[in-house]
Amino acid sequence: MAGAYCRYCDSRCFVFRIVPDGPHKGWAGHMATCHRGMEHDRRTTGHDHTTAINPMDEVPS
Ligand SMILES: [Zn+2]
Repeated sequence: MAGAYCRYCDSRCFVFRIVPDGPHKGWAGHMATCHRGMEHDRRTTGHDHTTAINPMDEVPS
């Protein structure tokens, strides 16, 4: 993977997420934060970056 530029917005709009449920449960990778990239992620995984798990938020309190 040379260069992780989003195919929809031509920038590095990705954030790391884990899919929490559905047929792609457990998939971990980079999801887009631009509008069209989010639509693509929802079509392919059932989630976008706003609904998938952000491992950086899993901070024990
Ligand atoms: Zn994008």
